[in-house]
Amino acid sequence: MSPTRITHLIAGAEWDGPAERTSPVYNPATGEQTGVLDLATPQLVDEVVRGAKVAWENEWQHSTLTKRTQILFKFRELLNERKDEIAELITAEHGKVTSDALGEVMRGLEVAEFACGISHLLKGGYSENVSTGVDVFSIRQSLGVVAIISPFNFPAMVPLWFVPIAIACGNAVVIKPSEKDPSAVNAVAKLWQEAGLPEGVMNVVHGDKEAVDALLEHDDVKAVSFVGSTPIAKYVYETATANGKRVQALGGAKNHMLVLPDADLDLAADAAINAGFGSAGERCMAISALIAVEPIADELIDKIKERMAKLRTGDGTRNPDMGPLVTKVHRDRVASYLDLGVEAGAELIVDGREGDIDADGEGFFLRPTLFDKVAPGMPIYDDEIFGPVLSVVRVGSYDEGLKLINDNPYGNGTAIFTNDGGAARRFQNEVEVGMVGINVPIPVPVSFFSFGGWKASLFGDSHAYGMEGVHFYTRGKVITSRWLDPSHAGINLGFPQNS
Ligand code: NAD
Repeated sequence: MSPTRITHLIAGAEWDGPAERTSPVYNPATGEQTGVLDLATPQLVDEVVRGAKVAWENEWQHSTLTKRTQILFKFRELLNERKDEIAELITAEHGKVTSDALGEVMRGLEVAEFACGISHLLKGGYSENVSTGVDVFSIRQSLGVVAIISPFNFPAMVPLWFVPIAIACGNAVVIKPSEKDPSAVNAVAKLWQEAGLPEGVMNVVHGDKEAVDALLEHDDVKAVSFVGSTPIAKYVYETATANGKRVQALGGAKNHMLVLPDADLDLAADAAINAGFGSAGERCMAISALIAVEPIADELIDKIKERMAKLRTGDGTRNPDMGPLVTKVHRDRVASYLDLGVEAGAELIVDGREGDIDADGEGFFLRPTLFDKVAPGMPIYDDEIFGPVLSVVRVGSYDEGLKLINDNPYGNGTAIFTNDGGAARRFQNEVEVGMVGINVPIPVPVSFFSFGGWKASLFGDSHAYGMEGVHFYTRGKVITSRWLDPSHAGINLGFPQNS
């Protein structure tokens, strides 16, 4: 079958111009090229941003909270109705198992549900009579056009972290999804149109660095939400802030799971498997380093090995436990760490290059892999591998484990496994990481809290969604008002004092 054309979605309509450059899209389970994606030029990005600005200026910024809420509710309903179709698109281009793809749509849907409460979320404050006859109140207003640049690993959920809140706050959106799995965003974007959102408020431009740079430099883009790897997050943050925009740029991760000797080891082994190998380890909250506080390492590794032997890897549509990696290049890069780990002196306990794969064709597979006796300084410990490779680091104490986590340049997620409430409480206080799980391996905050890491995992100070999302996409205004009273008239050049 010849690859299907995938193109930009501008003001609700598919772009029909000829593309100067394109990029291939693959089904990672079969290795087959299924799509050909149009890449936007800077000129096209400019046109889309200008169109979005008009939609914001003329209509959306003035829309009533009632209208926005009605559209959000409708969008939520449509997303819920179409969730299976969207999950299928995700599996077809990302590779993750269909049930996992459905899980990401549902977590994105929860942000849309949060945004349905925008009338309440945007309520300002009011103080009466702060001075004689003077009242003060605060409001939050939209920014204008906001850009969202998203990664391949959650093609629906990460866009949904931002889009519903940005729109609910009265902004127009231009999103540039990952070029590896672009179809899910297009499908979700079409639902906004169906929900009654005015034309031009929601736009999708596909592209690579050229399109991203055009967004980062555009005068009419007022804010940038980025999610991706740390070097690009840093670049986006530096470039967009230098161009006067507010930016939240979420970067990469190296998430540690600390297992204390008193932990329930069956629970810890299950968690290590789920968080280490779910979505083939291509989650920014995946656990890639398991720190075992001795003497439990041998017993815990045995339990993990037992479970790994039962894991089925294959085409995500066939309901295995784990699917392929996203591209051949990425699979080969992840697989190269197996030799690097051995060369550095780690012990390869389970080799993901061996074993059965349930798929047809030349998919981009690597089965779950386990290393023991890993230490800082080894590439498998120091780098974000972003694949199904779990490293066990043995330490002698809680303090040694904590130091490893706090010395790591990343600070996205972490988890402690213990039955000791005091130890868990110490950990939640002492660990330098933005999202912490206590006997919970992937502590992705629910939609009414906010998502964000520390250190090299986030550039900027706003986390995604929740109230931080509402603040990010609005700017505050405080109004001090006095209705004229003849007794207060007169000249006074002094700084206003309250009385
Ligand atoms: P990536 O950094 O390669 O790409 C992210 C986005 O940036 C894509 O839209 C891509 O087109 C664009 N991009 C790539 N290179 C660029 C360049 N040179 N200049 C401008 N734009 C560029 O990331 P990815 O491989 O798609 O996603 C995986 C990474 O994302 C991992 O590092 C993962 O940890 C991270 N991630 C982080 C979070 C988080 O919340 N912190 C969530 C999901 C993924």
